Amino acid sequence: MLRNIAVIGAGVSGLTVGYALKKIGLEVEIFERSQSIEEFGAGITLSKNATLLLQDLELMEVLSSKGYCPMDSFIRDYRKAKVIKSKKLDKNFITLDRRDLVSTLSHRFEELGGSIILDSEIEAVDPISGEISISTHKRKTYDLILICDGIKSSLRELYFDDQKPQFTEYVAWRGMTSLEDLPKFEGNDKVNVYYGPGGHCVHYPTGRGDLVNFIAIEHNVIWSEESWKIKGSKAELLESFKGWNEDLLSMFDSSQEIYKWGIFERPLPDKLYRDKCILLGDAAHPMVPFLGQGGCLAIEDAYCLMSLIKDKQDLNSIVQEYDRLRNSRSRWIQKRSKLQGIFNHVSNPIIAKIRNFVTKIIMNNSVNKLHSYNLIKELSEIKKI
Ligand SMILES: Cc1cc2nc3c(=O)[nH]c(=O)nc-3n(C[C@H](O)[C@H](O)[C@H](O)COP(=O)(O)OP(=O)(O)OC[C@H]3O[C@@H](n4cnc5c(N)ncnc54)[C@H](O)[C@@H]3O)c2cc1C
Repeated sequence: MLRNIAVIGAGVSGLTVGYALKKIGLEVEIFERSQSIEEFGAGITLSKNATLLLQDLELMEVLSSKGYCPMDSFIRDYRKAKVIKSKKLDKNFITLDRRDLVSTLSHRFEELGGSIILDSEIEAVDPISGEISISTHKRKTYDLILICDGIKSSLRELYFDDQKPQFTEYVAWRGMTSLEDLPKFEGNDKVNVYYGPGGHCVHYPTGRGDLVNFIAIEHNVIWSEESWKIKGSKAELLESFKGWNEDLLSMFDSSQEIYKWGIFERPLPDKLYRDKCILLGDAAHPMVPFLGQGGCLAIEDAYCLMSLIKDKQDLNSIVQEYDRLRNSRSRWIQKRSKLQGIFNHVSNPIIAKIRNFVTKIIMNNSVNKLHSYNLIKELSEIKKI
């Protein structure tokens, strides 16, 4: 019987799983190496496959009130912003400022009596005994250790496999601007995605005041920075997207600060568990963010594990079932996200026309297929067996 659980990392995966397990009455401690759990000010989109679970976890009311419900999305051409295809969304698709997501999760976890131990890097774990070694020189033992330490997971490298995060040759520029600086065309306050040669851009309001999030992705073979997130220069961003829609560029120009991220990925390990340790979120399956699914999958991981723990007594069957459910789905989304990059960034104008035509035909179905995955249903079918 599982009683006390250590969660390593207070990002979306660690906080969601911490809250979900606390909600079913377990003792949970979250260890975070940073001195605070402030997220970087940027947007995140959450689709139905995740919001359905957040609804069941009684988090959606508060998240919807803090976030934004765009109700439509548009795929546009990079130069004239002409709509290639539009798609209706519903209230199950929300956009948020990451700071609101993380603060909601952490407050709700703490309201249930959970503790977040800051400034505590976990340096090592013993997967068999469940002992963790904390940077404060303390050691503690748990029935289960959840490794949620993100894409650069050093614990994964120590205990699972030695694959390192690899630069994908994509760079993401991120910035925040305000509603009044949005491009002035109909649908500007929805989710807007622009396909162009060698890159794509996305913008949407976040629901935090009038803040609008934008991301511009470019294919770039060089990432020589030590850190994977640096302050970027507007001039460099504007130069990289020269020839794109003028309104879009002037929106980039209106942002106070621009950050530049190297996009890394890491193949999934063969198994997502080892003895008393389980991988969740980006530590398990980091991916290129072109389908907006990394955070959604972290929420699915958290819900899945909570549900299995709630229904099963024995650790062996919990970890095996978790691995079976999460490994194949995450592999599939990781692969699809990568293909989406190739699709979005076509340079040849004739192939781009074919791509646009294909988008018109398949977009609704392919987005629906992605967002309509119902983990609750899948888990309830397992219970019947
Ligand atoms: C440009 C971009 C746009 C994106 N857009 C979306 C989107 O719209 N929708 C979506 O669903 N996803 C999106 N994603 C993906 C999403 O951001 C990630 O999948 C998600 O944040 C992963 O959360 P995590 O908790 O697994 O990892 P992280 O957020 O990286 O959290 C890991 C935490 O662990 C801590 N930590 C690390 N090592 C230790 C240690 N040894 N001891 C203690 N603490 C430790 C870190 O300090 C950190 O707080 C996007 C990603 C990018 C790059």
